[in-house]
Amino acid sequence: MDIGFIGLGNMGLPMARRLIEAGHRLVVFDTRSEVSGKLVALGATAATSPKDVADQVETVMASLPSLQASLEVATGANGVIEGSRAKRFIDLSTVGSAMAVRIHGLLAKRNIVQIDCPVSGGVGGAEKGTLAVMVSGPKTEFDLLKPVLDVIGKVFFIGEKPGSAQTMKLANNFLSATAIVATSEAVVMGVKAGLDPAVMIDVINAGSGMNTASRDKFPRAVLPRSFDFGFATGLMLKDVRLALDEMKQLGLSMEVADAVGRSWETVIAAEGAESDFTAAIKPIEKKAGV
Ligand code: NAD
Repeated sequence: MDIGFIGLGNMGLPMARRLIEAGHRLVVFDTRSEVSGKLVALGATAATSPKDVADQVETVMASLPSLQASLEVATGANGVIEGSRAKRFIDLSTVGSAMAVRIHGLLAKRNIVQIDCPVSGGVGGAEKGTLAVMVSGPKTEFDLLKPVLDVIGKVFFIGEKPGSAQTMKLANNFLSATAIVATSEAVVMGVKAGLDPAVMIDVINAGSGMNTASRDKFPRAVLPRSFDFGFATGLMLKDVRLALDEMKQLGLSMEVADAVGRSWETVIAAEGAESDFTAAIKPIEKKAGV
């Protein structure tokens, strides 16, 4: 299939590479033109704007870092909406259901179908093609796109209602965000009492406390103190805030979610939006004096 791909960052680049390797013809665009070059070397065509992508292909995917970027790329003056060939816009970014519905409505006026397609599983999952891929949109579109999406991971149809895959993704990321700060607090408690953090993680992973932070993030990026797992703290806080917004819109008040939100606000104030999310342990260590 001819596919446009916009946003070639930590997630977009490996997903786009897998699509090329699977035999799809890609037209790519990123505001950082140097990253497009990496895919041109593999046979992709570089475009000059989202509109230019959508002038060349019917199917456009995007993996972008903010709600504003998705809105602009999809519906801005030089956006996909202005492209002469675009039929569908598949947003792999995490934007929350309200923004997804807004983009859906704007694109529908130009007969472009918006398909929510947030993913989970990190950079490693994007490289290996093992992401959890959550899709909402017309079932006919899902059936058409399923063989393409199979290349990037395990594909789930969440429903036809616009934004519903975003709600699914936020539920997932709320748990992932909780695992990181909760595991950091558990480990810091042990270190304060004189325990070895590496032994603690081994025990937790053999016991009932095992979670995605103890299993993946601590061994790879926290214990070696490399803090380079590949997901920015700013993006994690974006997702936590979106989950809190989602709960509010549904009239829900959740105690753990509120506490997790406060923890991530503390992390971003201490470490900055560009830090890796595994740095969440640092302000907890500092406060504990370890
Ligand atoms: P990233 O910041 O590494 O990549 C975003 C890319 O988009 C960058 O290359 C940037 O130059 C480009 N970009 C920004 N604005 C643009 C615009 N207007 N036009 C074209 N390109 C533009 O972010 P990421 O980590 O790859 O995350 C992308 C999305 O995937 C986010 O919504 C994130 O929440 C989600 N996500 C990330 C991970 C992860 O582990 N990194 C996992 C699952 C989902």
